[in-house]
Amino acid sequence: MIPAAFDYVRAGSAEEAISLIGQHGEDAKFLAGGHSLLPLMKLRLAQPSVLVDIGRLSDLSYIRDAGDHIAIGALTRHMDIEHSAVLAEHVPLLAHAASHVGDPQVRHRGTIGGSIAHADPASDLPATTLALGATYVAQGPSGTREIASKDFFTGFLDNSLAADEMLTEIRVPKMHAAGWSFQKFNRRAQDWAIVGVAAWRRDGDSGVALVNMGSTPILATSVSSALAGGASVADAAEQAAAEAEPQSDLNASPEYRVHLAKVLVRRALEEASG
Ligand SMILES: Cc1cc2nc3c(=O)[nH]c(=O)nc-3n(C[C@H](O)[C@H](O)[C@H](O)COP(=O)(O)OP(=O)(O)OC[C@H]3O[C@@H](n4cnc5c(N)ncnc54)[C@H](O)[C@@H]3O)c2cc1C
Repeated sequence: MIPAAFDYVRAGSAEEAISLIGQHGEDAKFLAGGHSLLPLMKLRLAQPSVLVDIGRLSDLSYIRDAGDHIAIGALTRHMDIEHSAVLAEHVPLLAHAASHVGDPQVRHRGTIGGSIAHADPASDLPATTLALGATYVAQGPSGTREIASKDFFTGFLDNSLAADEMLTEIRVPKMHAAGWSFQKFNRRAQDWAIVGVAAWRRDGDSGVALVNMGSTPILATSVSSALAGGASVADAAEQAAAEAEPQSDLNASPEYRVHLAKVLVRRALEEASG
């Protein structure tokens, strides 16, 4: 399949990329790893007139200890997240989730910023960073702003970035030895999740988010409230789908997804509590 014709320009800096997107208007798109955008273009489900390539902005590829959180540049590849010693120590849930993204080729090209900006509810890192209470940094023509992950995902493949804003950094709170678990249910090891769960737990506090249980990644706040109120893991897991609006597709009916979510949340909480 061949994409519709488009112009291509490579940006030398974040500022230049933002300026180029501004010049070319709503039809222009950033190109990071290309592993979500190019498949859509080949199917002609996306037909941008201009691609602004940000994939070589190496100064936006980093993982740094920033005190209470880990700062991750938006152009950091999944493979670097998977193998980061800093994340293994402070945010092991994110490193582990990255190891479940697609196959090694996908993980060498795809970026965390592209995954989050693409806002696919079936992707692993949007839900994982949501469970962890991450903050995303967006840069636009007039400066930067922070967006809480819980306010970022606004609809299917949609987010709260303005057309001329670029995601530049993901700030993930340190887990401080919280228990954690990542559950991904799929038929083949390298597929997207039919349903997935990212969860952590420490004392009375917890974060649980669901993959592929609605039009956006879902924060399962009812599960965390139940745990905070003293519910058992089994009873809290019964609340798994309270915020979800599961869809039907070739892999699963909404009812099966709800069943899976309850089973996977229970497994995740048991592992995180162990
Ligand atoms: C075969 C295959 C299997 C896969 N399996 C999985 C899987 O199991 N789990 C999973 O989570 N993902 C999976 N993916 C998706 C993969 O993780 C992508 O790399 C990721 O979703 C998008 O990152 P990217 O850098 O490739 O973004 P791109 O495809 O370059 O961009 C995606 C979208 O985000 C926008 N964008 C990119 N970067 C920025 C930025 N910094 N600021 C603002 N907008 C930006 C682009 O304009 C575009 O609209 C798979 C992909 C393939 C091809």
